[in-house]
Amino acid sequence: MDAKDPLAEAEGVATAWAREDLAELASRGLRRFLEPLDPAQGALVRIGGETFINFSSNDYLGLASSPTVRAAAQAALEHYGVGTGASRVVTGDTPAHQSLEARLAAFERAEAVLLFNTGFAANTGIIPALVGSGDAVFSDALNHASIIDGCRLSRARTVVYPHADPEALAQVLAETPARRKLVVTDTVFSMDGDHAPLRELLAACREHGAALMVDEAHATGVLGARGAGLCEELGLESQVDLRMGTLSKAFGGMGAYVATSRAVVDLLISRARPFIFSTALPAALCAAAEAAVDAVESDVHLRERLWRNIRRFAQGLRALGLPAEPRSAIFPVILGEPERALDAARRCRDRGLLVKAIRPPTVPEGTSRLRFCLSAAHTEGHIDLALEVLRKMGVRHAE
Ligand code: PMP
Repeated sequence: MDAKDPLAEAEGVATAWAREDLAELASRGLRRFLEPLDPAQGALVRIGGETFINFSSNDYLGLASSPTVRAAAQAALEHYGVGTGASRVVTGDTPAHQSLEARLAAFERAEAVLLFNTGFAANTGIIPALVGSGDAVFSDALNHASIIDGCRLSRARTVVYPHADPEALAQVLAETPARRKLVVTDTVFSMDGDHAPLRELLAACREHGAALMVDEAHATGVLGARGAGLCEELGLESQVDLRMGTLSKAFGGMGAYVATSRAVVDLLISRARPFIFSTALPAALCAAAEAAVDAVESDVHLRERLWRNIRRFAQGLRALGLPAEPRSAIFPVILGEPERALDAARRCRDRGLLVKAIRPPTVPEGTSRLRFCLSAAHTEGHIDLALEVLRKMGVRHAE
């Protein structure tokens, strides 16, 4: 008998685990698949030769395909090349990074801004840089996964407070002994589109000596007279300790930033691990983002178009008996079990709409949904067609 090669089966072990777990995910309707879009962004996208109206992108202002933003990226690409070769604390820093930080600091009316490669990297980097063991972090029950992971990585005691409930927050702040207390919340919640009650949360923080960090990923470029987010809309820019925003949604590119004090930025440069140990954003993306910030500030029509679409869609949904409010670009149509959401997404797709089914663990069990994301790039015709499809499907909100 041949001696068995001890290395022969090594490759198969993880594959067996994967097959087992994939089968389990599939049995619960939770398996995910990838699908390339070509072109990648815009109100109309192509998949395998067919055209769809895209209601599943966070490119809220249509800037991902803007000619000025592209031209800025192209010029920087020629000058700097593609990659940055190292983290910014090694040799990956460029004038494009510093220029974008200065531009964002002016836009956010902040003392200082620090870039991160993604929103996910920002949240998982910032939270552990500020709090650790002996401290406590207070997180809204519907916060984004990157905040949840940031809390876990910090090793601080994590207290999850009921969604958008400042009274409950005040109570847990009072009951939890800790050296430092950090409260973290999305400003616009990514799966429901509702707003955090920032004034009241801030009051609870003040009362208990806690710092407040907000994630404006879905508010930047959408809310506020200048498009700087919910903090701007509520006049709280200078009062919130850390305001994190992404460059990947309304700014149409990739990356993220935090607007805060110089001291906090200096600490993050020395301590935030995704900042220190990850290759810097390509300079071309920094230049693209700077052009996008210029567009958001100078072209109010962009935001006006988005808000016209938001109001039209909200009104149309309500006319169909579906609860909807014009408060952000995100509209959930809650259907219940994953299979119902998947089936609705398939039926939308058969009628030319690309809208994704969002299922656990992204949203709580029993609240699987279609999530419509609107953009300034949509026409009234696109919005009306989506409403007509929902009407014909006879979609009903789950209780
Ligand atoms: N925060 C929130 C609220 C988000 O919705 C997202 C992205 N879905 C992120 C952070 C992560 O941002 P990015 O995609 O830039 O990593």
